Amino acid sequence: MKVTPVIAIHGGAGTLLRQAMNAEMEARYIAALTDILSAGQRVLADGGSALDAVTEAVRLLEDCPLFNAGHGAVFTAAGTHELDASVMDGATLEAGAISCVTRVRNPVLAARRVLDVSDHVMFTAAGAEAFAAAQGLELVDPSYFHTDARYQQWQKARGTSRTMLDHDAMTKFSFDNGPNDPIDPDKKFGTVGAVALDANGHLAAATSTGGITNKQAGRVGDAPMIGAGCYANDATCAVSTTGTGEMFMRMLAAYDVSAQMEYRGVSLEEASNDVVMNKLPRIEGRGGLIAVDAKGNVVLPFNTEGMYRGFARVGAAPVTAIYR
Ligand code: ASP
Repeated sequence: MKVTPVIAIHGGAGTLLRQAMNAEMEARYIAALTDILSAGQRVLADGGSALDAVTEAVRLLEDCPLFNAGHGAVFTAAGTHELDASVMDGATLEAGAISCVTRVRNPVLAARRVLDVSDHVMFTAAGAEAFAAAQGLELVDPSYFHTDARYQQWQKARGTSRTMLDHDAMTKFSFDNGPNDPIDPDKKFGTVGAVALDANGHLAAATSTGGITNKQAGRVGDAPMIGAGCYANDATCAVSTTGTGEMFMRMLAAYDVSAQMEYRGVSLEEASNDVVMNKLPRIEGRGGLIAVDAKGNVVLPFNTEGMYRGFARVGAAPVTAIYR
């Protein structure tokens, strides 16, 4: 069966209230999403694998200061940055992940190296950094991840027991501070992910995050957990999630979409909607996911006010959206 390759990406979900965003900022997000989709689309158009396309898209999302992954990651309660990433190849079911790294410039590249060369699936903290260094990946001073915007965001949550999704955090503060101190949308970021189907019918997924603002040091969320924040299987689908990580972990959200397709025989859309609109809300899980199946169907459901998202089929213009 001949398939049209397709890539989808997300830049995080949250409250993303329209009032908190101005037209210029909205245009910047849309432009960033469109550029990154175009880059992923080029990989696929040139005959590249789904695995290469999602790795490249997430690398670009990590480097983009608009999103909470890589440069611009959120602060932990200890005032540090701890990054998590994962990648999975639906053709082989091979996977790679790293968690709690503080110096790896592009966590997704480290996750990809784990997939490519290691017998293991996940490395964490100092061991993950040693692995990345041994693989010749770029290590940076932790200050590389610092942005003033993220720092200000953390100051508001600091000293409380609250953690928050980055987008929720920003919109909440804007309203707390009143109309004269509006949220600077320039300073919003989001967890990122990509899923793709290539010309050979193979699927892949990748997810990368700085986590949630004011998280306890050492906390690891769903993003690097295969089956929770990332999953790919050529027989079913590829999935990348964003949201309240603890609930996505307890629900094995990404794998549940695949399992429902496999065991219940339901469509990608039905399985994804059940996870995002029924199962996650039952345990107060907030967020969304992006997914693609082997036929090239793409879904981008979320149960929050918005999710930065888009998809691009080879030969067609990228499609992007932010709100419902
Ligand atoms: N799922 C991420 C985490 O819990 C956060 C997010 O997607 O915004 O680390």
